[in-house]
Amino acid sequence: MFLLDDWFSGADISERKKMVFLTVSELGPEDTSRNIIEIIFQSSWLKKQSPVCAVDRILKVHNAPATLARFEAYRDAVKARARGGRPGAGRCTADGNELLRFHCAALSCSLGAGGATHLCDAASSSCAACGIVRDGFKFRAPGVRTMATSGRAHDDAVAVGGEEGEGGEGERRRAMLVCRVIAGRVKRRCEGTAEEAEASPSAEEEEYDSVAGTAGVYSSLDELEVLNPTAILPCFVVVYKA
Ligand SMILES: [Zn+2]
Repeated sequence: MFLLDDWFSGADISERKKMVFLTVSELGPEDTSRNIIEIIFQSSWLKKQSPVCAVDRILKVHNAPATLARFEAYRDAVKARARGGRPGAGRCTADGNELLRFHCAALSCSLGAGGATHLCDAASSSCAACGIVRDGFKFRAPGVRTMATSGRAHDDAVAVGGEEGEGGEGERRRAMLVCRVIAGRVKRRCEGTAEEAEASPSAEEEEYDSVAGTAGVYSSLDELEVLNPTAILPCFVVVYKA
């Protein structure tokens, strides 16, 4: 809602609908970025012993200019704060510590099916994927969860959604959002890490922009909770079955 409001202001309903329909487009097999996204998605689908997921469609998200502007403004703010001289701010001063992250969202409409690229009325259908693409991420304490790998994001969504058992082993369409994230300064949650020890003890209210979960098997940033939803820009939607 808040992300597209400025963009839509002044637009009448039919114009508004048209713009919504243009929010995603399908990437065809000849598209270079389709191949890249598929490789990134498949190669980070780790540890899946049983049936590998099947990519159905890959959609590109056309973010509104206002959304992109807000994302870049957020990056500038992170960089400006980093230049304030806090220790270990290297990546932050360069690009705000931008990372490619995954977020798996429930898909309860036919987005992607048969090439469909219109977003459903997410509000009434509780379709998380369309809601995020259209309105952006919403803050939910302690932050928006993003994962370093598609496999982990999938597992996380299944666990959170409590979907195990529902429909048995039947295949289910899901949406993996491939996102650009300005991670900024990352706080490590795991107790007693080197990073925490480094922090100046006097700075009780140390500022940070995202929180990493306990070190995982894949990398220390396996799990990252992003405190400000503006820091996350969904760029591609991989519709898959698993
Ligand atoms: Zn939907």
